[in-house]
Amino acid sequence: MPLAPCRQCAEPVDSRLAFCPHCDAPRPGLTEWRGEGYEWRTEMLWMGSPVIHVAFGNGADGRPRVARGLIAVGQRAVGGIAVGIVATGFVAIGAVSIGVFSLGIVAVAGLAAVGVNAIAPVAIGVVAVGYLAGGVAALGWKILFAATP
Ligand SMILES: [Zn+2]
Repeated sequence: MPLAPCRQCAEPVDSRLAFCPHCDAPRPGLTEWRGEGYEWRTEMLWMGSPVIHVAFGNGADGRPRVARGLIAVGQRAVGGIAVGIVATGFVAIGAVSIGVFSLGIVAVAGLAAVGVNAIAPVAIGVVAVGYLAGGVAALGWKILFAATP
């Protein structure tokens, strides 16, 4: 196996390894590593965050990138409008979404959620739990509509 000194701790490691067995540095065989995936952000800021931040893949520290912005798009997205696998925001759209307004496979919201599983004061989903709930299976104080009575 091709050996190379780890970029971070200088121990000899297999240069094909994804992580150094000694210090956990990502891709230790490379002399330079800026992460993998894709990241783009606007230079314009809104309350200290980029207006738009798009982030996929892992950063230079080997951890998944998190998109943070007024509009955030990524596997993990946090923002005013967040779109991602896991999305947290005022408006959250994702497989797992947590927000004031949420849309997702699992959607949890402070006001309204629409999803396969929706949990919110106003919930619409296959399984909906809320004050106002509508869905195939709806649990709520007021049932908007339901397939199962
Ligand atoms: Zn190392």
